[in-house]
Amino acid sequence: METLKRTKIKDLLLAAPGTEVLAKGWVRTKRGNKQVKFIALNDGSTINNIQVVASAENFDEELFKRITTGASLAVRGELVASVGSGQAVEIQASEIEVLGECDPMRFPLQKKDTTLEYLRSVAHMRLRTNTFGAVLRIRNAMAFAIHKFFNEKGFVYLHTPLITESDAEGAGDMFQVTTMNLKQVPLDKKGNVDFSKDFFGKKTSLTVSGQLEGELGATALGEIYTFGPTFRAENSNTPRHLAEFWMIEPEMAFYDINDNMALAEEFVKYLVQYALDNCMDDLRFLNDKYDGELIERMQSVLGIAFEKVTYTRAVEILEEAIANGVQFEYPVHWGTDFQSEHERYLVEKYFRKPVILIDFPKDIKAFYMKQNEDGRTVRGMDVLFPKIGEIIGGSEREASLEKLEKRIEELGMSRKNLEWYIDTRRYGTVPHSGFGLGFERLLLFVTGMANIRDVIPFPRTPKNAEF
Ligand code: ATP
Ligand code: MN
Repeated sequence: METLKRTKIKDLLLAAPGTEVLAKGWVRTKRGNKQVKFIALNDGSTINNIQVVASAENFDEELFKRITTGASLAVRGELVASVGSGQAVEIQASEIEVLGECDPMRFPLQKKDTTLEYLRSVAHMRLRTNTFGAVLRIRNAMAFAIHKFFNEKGFVYLHTPLITESDAEGAGDMFQVTTMNLKQVPLDKKGNVDFSKDFFGKKTSLTVSGQLEGELGATALGEIYTFGPTFRAENSNTPRHLAEFWMIEPEMAFYDINDNMALAEEFVKYLVQYALDNCMDDLRFLNDKYDGELIERMQSVLGIAFEKVTYTRAVEILEEAIANGVQFEYPVHWGTDFQSEHERYLVEKYFRKPVILIDFPKDIKAFYMKQNEDGRTVRGMDVLFPKIGEIIGGSEREASLEKLEKRIEELGMSRKNLEWYIDTRRYGTVPHSGFGLGFERLLLFVTGMANIRDVIPFPRTPKNAEF
């Protein structure tokens, strides 16, 4: 059998009949009668299975018994035009080798009660399902499209560190990184932990954002982006938060907030279009199984301009809504951070399109955002999407050394760990901007999955770091 080269099922399904082929994969289903068996084989290259037709004349019953859902097979045979509907071609098997058996009692993939929640506890089976096959192929396509988009624009892919001593922006609680023996932590004279004895000689954590380092890249190379893991120890068990997620953070010299918004809009539209152009089989499957409006919703964000609204105007809209009887769980008034329910009201009910919120109260945003003339708002921008809420957070950065230093002081932040960053405003400062797109938030949008745990192969959430 090995003299023939294996062809992926994705390619077999498009090939012309009449050739001898070798397919390998896992059994999805087996059905048939005494004379003939039909085996649906999948190898992960596509959501679609190839049908293997095995006549009882050529194989003994013992072999068929070993071919159960989940078992792995190598199948040799002729690719022929399929008589049944649903597929153009099938394999008329001449040789079947069972590579690995699979106990059907312990692999309940066909059972109706394999909920997404249950699957999260069975790592090997989870990835083998149609659902995760589809999600992970789309995830792969989106990662590729992100690099393609920036590469075509001449952005430099910058690798920022995962271990850091800065807390970026107080974006979220951090995971500490240490090699100290926790049973015998070294203390200084005052009784505080003596981090000078730790591996890096200081207190270090996993990064919550690559932005600050990204700004150093942008003010040297012009336009950069990062794309890597990000860690936030937020103890919030929501369907939109992970403790370990991936973020894309472009940072651009000479961009003001309008350039920044234009790039963000172009970027997400490009990604949604890429998914529609390249992942239609998987999208159709997810659309049919989980979210009947998925494809329609994706198309709906493409043809229109995103709505730009100031935070202040958005508060008025929400207050009017409340006055008209709309109920929210959390209160809204000028100065509060919006919750996802407020964001979704603006997008889904009021504007009925993606919204870019701008000009936030400075007290709910990070120290580095450019301050507006009014003295109370900053040039931040959040991109809000239907079903998700915030998908992107960004801003024009404060380029003035004086204003930046004053803000750091006002907030009582430690300058000591930030001097390297402040230097960018000291030596040839320029207007610049950037944003962060949560990769899994994007994936929620382009897969229609409801829970962020189901768009990453191995989710990390509070009390959950298995596999
Ligand atoms: P949110 O208000 O939704 O918690 P945030 O304001 O803390 O988000 P930013 O600091 O602006 O988020 O981070 C940029 C982007 O990273 C967000 O727009 C979002 O897409 C994504 N993101 C932030 N926190 C998480 C998380 N815990 N899990 C997954 N994605 C996240
Ligand atoms: Mn944000």
